[in-house]
Amino acid sequence: MSPDRDVDTDVDDVDADVIVVGGGPAGSAAAIALARAGQRVTIIDKATFPRDKCCGDGLTTGALRELQAIGFDPARVPSWKVTGDVWLRTPKGVSIAYPLPPGRGQYAAIAERQELDHQLVLMAKEAGATLLDGHAVTNVVARPSHIEVEAEGLGRLTARYLIAADGMWSPVRKHLGLTAAGYRGEWHAFRQYFSNVGPMAANDMFIWFEPEILPGYFWSFPLPGNRANVGFGIDRERVSVQDMKQLWPELLARPHIAEVLGPDAVAEGKHRAWPIPARIDDISLTAHRTFFVGDAAAATDVMSGEGIAQALLTGRWAAEAVLESAAAEGAGDPAAATAHYRDAVGNGLVADHRMSNLLKGMLASAAGVEFSVRFSGLNHWTRRNFARWLFEDYPRAQLFTPRRYHRRMFTQDGAYTDRPK
Ligand SMILES: Cc1cc2nc3c(=O)[nH]c(=O)nc-3n(C[C@H](O)[C@H](O)[C@H](O)COP(=O)(O)OP(=O)(O)OC[C@H]3O[C@@H](n4cnc5c(N)ncnc54)[C@H](O)[C@@H]3O)c2cc1C
Repeated sequence: MSPDRDVDTDVDDVDADVIVVGGGPAGSAAAIALARAGQRVTIIDKATFPRDKCCGDGLTTGALRELQAIGFDPARVPSWKVTGDVWLRTPKGVSIAYPLPPGRGQYAAIAERQELDHQLVLMAKEAGATLLDGHAVTNVVARPSHIEVEAEGLGRLTARYLIAADGMWSPVRKHLGLTAAGYRGEWHAFRQYFSNVGPMAANDMFIWFEPEILPGYFWSFPLPGNRANVGFGIDRERVSVQDMKQLWPELLARPHIAEVLGPDAVAEGKHRAWPIPARIDDISLTAHRTFFVGDAAAATDVMSGEGIAQALLTGRWAAEAVLESAAAEGAGDPAAATAHYRDAVGNGLVADHRMSNLLKGMLASAAGVEFSVRFSGLNHWTRRNFARWLFEDYPRAQLFTPRRYHRRMFTQDGAYTDRPK
């Protein structure tokens, strides 16, 4: 740890090249890439791992490909479950099963966050990062030549760069004075685990578009051992968070939902709720020597609320920006590094965010949902390709951004083709 020092003095001898605040998927992805490249990385997290994260636990093809690229082994996660079909149900009660391509790798999987995040942060340690968990960051000060981070029980630590992977409420953003007044996220979502669910919930993914919560939806995602992750999300502009408590038992009791969960399903403990930030095109992504990634950059998909893939991606992009600049000179060029990261996000996520926003508008009305589901469910070809698009097998706005096209984009295998499904 650094002793107190004259705060105005340049610092030659920093404690770490990069401090990562938050050891969720965004922070771990950044730390893994940096530590593997030889950077001295310290992850600070206020929680002690393994820790839970309120989430649907759904991994899209995009997330699976990122995990595979860093060498993550699904066998590390006992709750890893590759899903069967994906069922969508319209407000009028039309149910359509969307098959994911069989026998060609994994296109969607469920993995309990308590286990997934623990294994990711362990991978960062294995790569050489130092993990200081159980220490909340309490202050951040940006200096011309370095960053200072204060954390409970650790005192003050210094680094050349800071990666803020500290989630929806990003204390780093707050300490740097960049939090938008009154911002509480675009979505809010409930989650509860159930045991003893029936065979449908134990194998397939279900998404129910219930009229009161559009463009939000209710879900049931399968887990091993006849368990399921069940929950629902609402758009804060259309449904009040206060109404969610009352909606929860009402929605659970609906016959089509109760039938899928099965008569013997038992709720495990209490439900949890958490906001979901989704405004990557309207938030500061960097400050001097600081990169915001994952939920701290409001990077989740604004239509589905999925953010694990975006967390892994933005974490990696921030690491690549640091590495590129650090390769140039010891202390790096923060202006070039932060510009590099903003470009990566601009090219890689903003068009998809805008596309998702348009589609979310369509899903806000029952008629829009009926049209979208019936159209995408016209035949086997539309169903399969819609499922691949829904699970981010390729970028949401691919059709409108031909620069991102590559030859096998629409025909490529899923992730982990070497594993049994
Ligand atoms: C109910 C719900 C369901 C969801 N379902 C899905 C889904 O099925 N699929 C999907 O892809 N996405 C889903 N999401 C979104 C997804 O959970 C997030 O986008 C994702 O967790 C973002 O990862 P992250 O690494 O940015 O942040 P997080 O995973 O939130 O990690 C942030 C870390 O920062 C730490 N931290 C916070 N404050 C401090 C501090 N002061 N000092 C030090 N550390 C600190 C926290 O302890 C935490 O470990 C869901 C979200 C919700 C709320």
